Amino acid sequence: MDEKLVELIMGELKKKLGEEVKTTIPVELSAKHVHLSEADSLALFGGPLTYKRELSQPGQFLCDQRVRLIGPKGVIDNVAVLGPARSESQVEVSISDSRALGLKVPIRQSGDIAGTPGIVLASSTGIVGLEQGVIVAGRHIHMSPGDAERFGVKDKDLVCVNMTGTRPVVFRDVLIRVSSDFNLAMHIDFDEGNGSGWTPASECTIVKQPQAEFCGV
Ligand SMILES: [Zn+2]
Repeated sequence: MDEKLVELIMGELKKKLGEEVKTTIPVELSAKHVHLSEADSLALFGGPLTYKRELSQPGQFLCDQRVRLIGPKGVIDNVAVLGPARSESQVEVSISDSRALGLKVPIRQSGDIAGTPGIVLASSTGIVGLEQGVIVAGRHIHMSPGDAERFGVKDKDLVCVNMTGTRPVVFRDVLIRVSSDFNLAMHIDFDEGNGSGWTPASECTIVKQPQAEFCGV
């Protein structure tokens, strides 16, 4: 066969395969974790957060430090701290965790903490009382502007997402978050992960575009 023709066919094939692969989105599980302000980090650990290992989103990392969450009804130990430091501290838990702590926690997107419950954070050397900042993180998909174009969505859109597996589910009201700093990934919490039979290999597809009244699948 003509060499040029082979090249052309291979090119088309690669494009097609690439397109097929790119219609799925990896699903990552967010365990409960804490983001700390510099001041709260100082109060708890006597200094800045230190890097342990990188996370899937560029610039985000797991810290060496761990904290204890102290709620009105319960305590959760050994909770991960994520860096870098933020302007305000934020605690992300599942609804199951919130019940264990004895807090009524709203579902919010990261950073939207006005009017959320407070909590006490403790380390072996310090203690900090947060006036607010405890949220159950709303499910969301991180993507680059290129991904958004490919999926036909834009920043802040709400979409329906189909997740296959042993307990297939359709998630509604999944927020699209677009930034050139993001790698493509959907983030759900432990309750959602357990409810949908999540495994590290789990993937999902966007099944309905924004403004749909219901998913209809
Ligand atoms: Zn996320």
